[in-house]
Amino acid sequence: MRTIPGAWRRTARGAGLLTAQGESAPTVFAEMSALAARTGAINLGQGFPDEDGPVEVLSVAREAIANGVNQYPPGRGQVDLLAAICEHQQRFYGIRLDPERDVLVTAGATEALAAALLALIDGPEDEVVVFEPYYDSYAACVALAGARLVTVPLRHPDFQPDLDELRDAVTDRTRIILVNDPHNPTGTVFSAETRAEIVRLADLHDALIVTDEVYEHLVFDGIHHTPIATETGAWERTLSISSAGKTFSTTGWKIGWLSGPAELVNAVLAVKQFLTYTNGAQFQPAIATGLRLPDTFFSGIADTLQRKRDLLGEGLRAAGLRVFTPSGSYFTVADATAVGAADALEFCRSLPERVGVVAIPITAFVGPEHRGDYAGLVRFAACKRVEVLTEASTRLAALPR
Ligand code: PMP
Ligand code: GLN
Repeated sequence: MRTIPGAWRRTARGAGLLTAQGESAPTVFAEMSALAARTGAINLGQGFPDEDGPVEVLSVAREAIANGVNQYPPGRGQVDLLAAICEHQQRFYGIRLDPERDVLVTAGATEALAAALLALIDGPEDEVVVFEPYYDSYAACVALAGARLVTVPLRHPDFQPDLDELRDAVTDRTRIILVNDPHNPTGTVFSAETRAEIVRLADLHDALIVTDEVYEHLVFDGIHHTPIATETGAWERTLSISSAGKTFSTTGWKIGWLSGPAELVNAVLAVKQFLTYTNGAQFQPAIATGLRLPDTFFSGIADTLQRKRDLLGEGLRAAGLRVFTPSGSYFTVADATAVGAADALEFCRSLPERVGVVAIPITAFVGPEHRGDYAGLVRFAACKRVEVLTEASTRLAALPR
């Protein structure tokens, strides 16, 4: 068979998806959602809600199509959405942005991450520091951009980084420290001390900071999200990324954004305009409406998800799993060793047939050399209807211990 040249192989290898046959496998989310569809199992795998978000937001998108908002929006994003993102950053975090220079609308956080990494990485000497487990696209995009991934482990039960290990990981070769907070898959929220140390190290080694804050409004137990960009000394070297998908239950719309100093945003735009150019004309005004919803909407979604987290946690514990209660995000990680998950990937592949539930092995968020450290850990999504979570718990309780 012909060998197909190009960057796809190192991208697939970086993501841990290059098969023994030399082909690229689908992501774990695609694999597990396909398994859910095939078996009819309850999908607590891929993180998407099973209910619609606010009707105000949905109806603006419908009206936009009816009113002819169907052509290319401006490359940076619709003016009103750019303004709404700035208002949001000011309202929640006191960050003042220039809507014409400091903001860029992207095709989800995924494109913002890819464009930022491609734009800011220079070559094979560059290193990108990430916390491991990490969201799957990070390793893939770092590999696509031709840089080296350096990992700092997050270990159970609290999944907080060891700051000495962080200090060892960041060097003069570090181009970017990529921080996902609140964190997928662990649900960890980083401490003020960790945020400050990230900024101090970035300054010391002249690195950039790229943040992924897609779960910014989904934090629990009275905690409030603090963007790293608001830490002293962070602003000039930080790009903050977020997305509408989780906040407004519109994961399929793929509206994301990034913000930061104009020169950094411009550098990302230089790449982004040749990836998608623009997207989602009809969704952009709807997300502008969403970002302007009252504070009670934002506190309400966190409260609702916290109750679901608690319900899922109870169900998992009752089924014999050891639960690591998350402070944020859609997800709960549990140690399923006691119910037979010595190898979480095999466990998750067989779970739909055995009890009708889909979940994601944490090893999918970890490089091959560290998978042993996370072998029995499984991620469950709490962003589902109460009756679905209850039924999933009943099914999991049938697992032999
Ligand atoms: N980052 C993290 C941590 C995520 O969990 C997700 C996915 N849901 C994304 C980025 C991608 O976001 P989007 O769907 O807006 O591209
Ligand atoms: N962010 C989602 C998750 O972690 C997956 C999105 C995707 O499939 N790329 O479940």
